[in-house]
Amino acid sequence: MAKIINGKEISEKIRLRIAEEVKELAAKDIVPGLAVILVGEDPASQVYVRNKKRACEQAGIYSESYELPGDTSQEELLKLIDKLNNDPKINGILAQLPLPGHIDEETVINHISPEKDVDAFHPINVGKIMIGNYDFLPCTPAGVMALLEESGIDCAGKECVVVGRSNIVGKPQAMLLLHSHGTVTICHSRTKNLAEVTRRADILIAAVGKPDFITADMVKPGAVVIDVGINRKEDGKLTGDVNFASVEPVASYITPVPGGVGPMTITMLLQNTLKSAKKAKGIS
Ligand code: NDP
Repeated sequence: MAKIINGKEISEKIRLRIAEEVKELAAKDIVPGLAVILVGEDPASQVYVRNKKRACEQAGIYSESYELPGDTSQEELLKLIDKLNNDPKINGILAQLPLPGHIDEETVINHISPEKDVDAFHPINVGKIMIGNYDFLPCTPAGVMALLEESGIDCAGKECVVVGRSNIVGKPQAMLLLHSHGTVTICHSRTKNLAEVTRRADILIAAVGKPDFITADMVKPGAVVIDVGINRKEDGKLTGDVNFASVEPVASYITPVPGGVGPMTITMLLQNTLKSAKKAKGIS
């Protein structure tokens, strides 16, 4: 039987610490501020934006949300980003992805000031993560690292296998595991004999986007299994990339979906906004 890593509980603990720090800053008249931009009416994105706003309120972080119509032009969006880049009340700017097809995501990401890029998607921040001297960590991979740390799981010397190589999860996740001294393998859709590779993992991270993709035969007994996947089943319920029922008896630790990595992503966003506010005021 695996220990369940409770992302909700760990996330609440970290959010309390963030709220405490925000309160201390408020005493110095410093209020961290986050701007979230949503273009269009994607229902999942609307939920994410609402959750981010609520999380800011609970932590005492000032937030602005811009819900723009789906036909907003790229130029208008870039103008808004310019305004926010120059607004001292705003320490973090987030453009909710995916953006509508007529807007080039890369242009938008590159337009956000690296100092306010709390998603850590800007090439400057990506480069800093590569070097290991970073200001912001991308929220989901950072959330995974925080879950491991809070659960007392040390990555040093461990075989770490990441399934998925996206720019927002797989690649930065691999880099963070490497910085934590893991021996890291990244798998993707062209990986041969995937189960053979995943079975070597002491720490297995699934970021594939396919329900029940990781099954018990792909997991080494005693492995730590972290499920980043968020997939919606036909009945509307959320499920991860890991077949929880079969993997849980094999693993030593496992994250559930929902209630595992998910809540950590917003928590790390709050942490990055706080960090940015402190940096803007020269506080380390
Ligand atoms: P992407 O679709 O961008 O990437 C998926 C990756 O999985 C790709 O690298 C792809 O390989 C790989 N893959 C697909 N099929 C296979 C296969 N058969 N064997 C091995 N690898 C495969 O997804 P994201 O990284 O954006 O997201 C991954 C999951 O995490 C999704 O479910 C998403 O919803 C979730 N997510 C959760 C977050 C959270 O807050 N918890 C935040 C962000 C994402 P290739 O590159 O070769 O195509």
